Amino acid sequence: AFPLDGGKTSEIETSHNGQEKTVAEMSVVEINWEGKPAYLASLRNITQRKRAEEKLRESEERLKKYLEGAPDGVYINDIKGTLLYGNKKAENLTGYKKEELVGTSFLKNNILPAKYLPKAGKTLARSVMGKPTGPDEFELNRKDGSHVWVEINSTPVKQEGELQIIGFVRDITERKLAEDALAESEEFSTGLLENSPNPITVVNQDFSLKYVNPAFEKLTGFTLKEIAGVKMPFPWWPEEKKAERLTGVQQGAISGNVKMEQMNQTKNGEHIWVEIRITPIYVNGVFKYYLSNWVDFTQRKKAEEALRFSDAAFKSIHESVIAADTDFIITHWNKISEQIYGIKESEAIGKKLLDVIEIVETRPGENAKRFKVLEDNGYYQEEQLHRTRHGEVWVDVSLQAIEDSGKRHGWVALASVITQRKLAEEAMKRSEEKYRELISTSIDGIVSTDPQMRVIIWNQGAERIFGYKEKEMLGQNVLKIIPEEFQKGVAKGVAQIVKTGKSSVANKILDTVGLRKDGSTVPIELSVSSRKSEDHYITTAIIRDITERKEAEEKLRKIDEMKSEFLSNVSHELRTPLQSISGFTKLLMNGQVPDPATQQEFLQIIDGETVHLGNLINSLLDMSRLESGKFQINKQLMPIRDIILDSVTSFHTLARDKDINLHEDIPAQLPEMEIDGERFRQVVINLLSNAIKYSDPGSSVTVKIEKREEELLFQISDHGIGISQEALLHLFERFYRAEDKLDRCGTGLGLYIAKQIIEAHGGQIWAESKLGEGSTFSFTLPLNSKGGNVHGKENSGHRRRPRYIKTG
Ligand code: ATP
Ligand code: MG
Repeated sequence: AFPLDGGKTSEIETSHNGQEKTVAEMSVVEINWEGKPAYLASLRNITQRKRAEEKLRESEERLKKYLEGAPDGVYINDIKGTLLYGNKKAENLTGYKKEELVGTSFLKNNILPAKYLPKAGKTLARSVMGKPTGPDEFELNRKDGSHVWVEINSTPVKQEGELQIIGFVRDITERKLAEDALAESEEFSTGLLENSPNPITVVNQDFSLKYVNPAFEKLTGFTLKEIAGVKMPFPWWPEEKKAERLTGVQQGAISGNVKMEQMNQTKNGEHIWVEIRITPIYVNGVFKYYLSNWVDFTQRKKAEEALRFSDAAFKSIHESVIAADTDFIITHWNKISEQIYGIKESEAIGKKLLDVIEIVETRPGENAKRFKVLEDNGYYQEEQLHRTRHGEVWVDVSLQAIEDSGKRHGWVALASVITQRKLAEEAMKRSEEKYRELISTSIDGIVSTDPQMRVIIWNQGAERIFGYKEKEMLGQNVLKIIPEEFQKGVAKGVAQIVKTGKSSVANKILDTVGLRKDGSTVPIELSVSSRKSEDHYITTAIIRDITERKEAEEKLRKIDEMKSEFLSNVSHELRTPLQSISGFTKLLMNGQVPDPATQQEFLQIIDGETVHLGNLINSLLDMSRLESGKFQINKQLMPIRDIILDSVTSFHTLARDKDINLHEDIPAQLPEMEIDGERFRQVVINLLSNAIKYSDPGSSVTVKIEKREEELLFQISDHGIGISQEALLHLFERFYRAEDKLDRCGTGLGLYIAKQIIEAHGGQIWAESKLGEGSTFSFTLPLNSKGGNVHGKENSGHRRRPRYIKTG
């Protein structure tokens, strides 16, 4: 009957002595026993173990039963958080069936929100160390999406050598909600207290201070921190009231709602008036606190006191008080009125107001208007000029109707003298006007800027200099008128003024340039100052346009240059003929030239050089006369045609020598004219000599005269080297010589002198030319007018030097 299972063990039940059951573990093997097959059965008594196992199973069953029926949810996890077991209650808590959860974790199913991960980790860590944890509160997500608040206590247990965690989970949602509601309501009520504009105190049952709100702190200066817990008497009670208030409280003065006015004091000892409402506060039906709500009426109290004071002050009022009836008959006239107007009360009362006080009109009809406004509005206030027995006074007058239930009984006027102020104001206004006028009409530009460099003053002078109108510049950055290369420097300077009020350029006059609206630059002279206005510095620049000065300077510089060039020219021009004169003279004197023809030739050279020297000296003299204002013109009736022909003829030799054709185009008849013949000849000679001098051999020179309606036009044209456009502008200036013609001798004075002479005759002189093609010099002489004179008076007694003609 033994199962033959080849050595495997099996459990069998045996009975021992027929009574006790035993459980044995048996294994049977087939063996050879003395040549015969046999079975060997080995048995091990395992009854004890079997019983223990049975007990355990029973206890587990009981436990499970217990757990199933437990009022709390129960979970069993392994220590990785994997759920091994959950009871019915637990199912209800999460809404998940046991089968859905076992084998996974709360985290995986998002039942335990991720934010609790650290907390859950801690629990696991404690469990590993064999320690229980809890209670911990969690808000779990249920399967249906709703939430449940739970409290979890967990204990680690060893189960078959494995560590497991049993968690007992209690639903605390209701408690949590209640707590939330409580917190919210507490928050709400403290919020109310904190934000109340009225000062509020909360006092405990034992009359110690529990709370004061910020409004209270603000009013009294006592902070919650420093007074929390203090007992009566409270620090805001004035010393003298303490005893009285304490007994009041002890006698139960505040049993229910109480309202009272109290004088208290701030931390600084200032008195404050408050209306206090005290309300007992019950919590769950039990009396806990007194809440007192304050209303501060210190201001009102003060105003009331001030009013009482001013009532008294009114009696000693320092104004003129005048009352009148509806017809403006004076009924009241106080002492001050007597002083201001110099009229006694007895004199004034009963008279018409306007018969006693004369209101000076600045515009006719003004008084009628005043009284109209007064009648209409029942009130009016104004500054008026009154004529009194003492003279004129400025008064600030207010007139008010006295009315009672819509019926007008009369008027009361209050007047105070403001003459001093008025005069000061007017003086101020006048000086301001003067100052403003000064600024706006100043020829110089006046520009002020604020610390941000914005223009705040821009006068007419600045408009003229820069081309921007005032309205274009006000508020604009002043750098707008400063060329870029100077902007940095200016900004730095202004920054320095803004910071220190001082400027490194103060009290200095600077030569610089400004930028105009049209983009051109303008040379300016600048002085900068700063002044403090209220709390910042204003920078003011006074600017002068120095274009003309600069131009004049430039001109002067040029003249200076020309003058020194002239001097070196002159000395050269003087020396050359002198050397040749002295050389030839010596040859003749020493008898080294026996041939009479050669002698004659040398003498002619000497004569020519002498003439040249003479002309040179005459030019110099003319110029110095012109400069010193002693140049004179002596006009006489002269045959103009003869003078011209004469002059032209004198040039024939020179022209022939230079192989230049000299043409004349002169009318057969020309009138006699009132001119200075010598001077006129000088002009013609200069123009002719220039034409020949600046022509090359083989070309021609023409002298043409044209009679026009009111003038004679003289023209001397050549086909010579010509004059550049630039040079044309300066030809008639003294010492001017076109730079590229300096190899030809000359002083640069000829045309300058010619111009002076022609203009002194009332004519005009000009030149037209093209470089490389030739030039035409023209001048006119008026036919009818006698022309001008350099000094307006003739000097016929003056002895003249002979004019020389340069022929060589
Ligand atoms: P000066 O007449 O005193 O001997 P100058 O001839 O140099 O000296 P101006 O007669 O004043 O002086 O003339 C001024 C300058 O004008 C000359 O130096 C020359 O450069 C230029 N100029 C005058 N006339 C002519 C001309 N016809 N053609 C070209 N250049 C001329
Ligand atoms: Mg000349």
